[in-house]
Amino acid sequence: MEPTAPKAARVVGRVLDRLYPAPPIPLDHHDPYTLLVAVLLSAQCTDARVNQVTPLLWATFGDTPEQLAATEVDAIREIIKPCGLSPAKSRAIQGLSRILLDLHDGKVPADFAALEALPGVGHKTASVVMSHVFGVPAMPVDTHIHRCARRWGLSDGSSVVRTESDLKSLFPASRWNNLHLQIIHFARAHCPARGHQPQTCPICSALSAKGLPVSD
Ligand code: SF4
Repeated sequence: MEPTAPKAARVVGRVLDRLYPAPPIPLDHHDPYTLLVAVLLSAQCTDARVNQVTPLLWATFGDTPEQLAATEVDAIREIIKPCGLSPAKSRAIQGLSRILLDLHDGKVPADFAALEALPGVGHKTASVVMSHVFGVPAMPVDTHIHRCARRWGLSDGSSVVRTESDLKSLFPASRWNNLHLQIIHFARAHCPARGHQPQTCPICSALSAKGLPVSD
């Protein structure tokens, strides 16, 4: 990590707090299970698309592990097709629903290892569920957070594992859950992978004003 990273983190944190004092969770859900399924569906798909699909999924088959465990994979697949990767995602939804019933009393477990043992659930998905459902400090790193952390000099961009550990060391645990939402909202509004506008952008202009490096 660059020696300037702690100073950059303070600047980034201040701007994000001003712009997004109470960032909402972008995936619509109404309980731990519906958030888990929504996060699973969001892999390589936009949250907006997931939010279009999940109401139909719940309305057609139900919104509980019991109901989706009893639904044919092909039927789930038809509904979730717009989210992409539908063969794997539909198998995962039915499979994890069955495991929740068999091993966890039909409930989403508040445990990283148990979550990551579910089909279709990796460390990022488990982190989103742990942070937003159970309030456990976590730092789910998606493509937006990975890109922004590198551009802002908070991490070197070598891997998402590295980005996660660098952000966790730069910010107190009490900030992690809010911070990851703040960065996601900021990245969508200001910091696209291509075609960014440094002149009008609130973060890199603040970093530059402090003499801190920014990357393209
Ligand atoms: S100037 Fe570009 S890289 Fe920096 S925060 Fe703004 S959009 Fe992102």
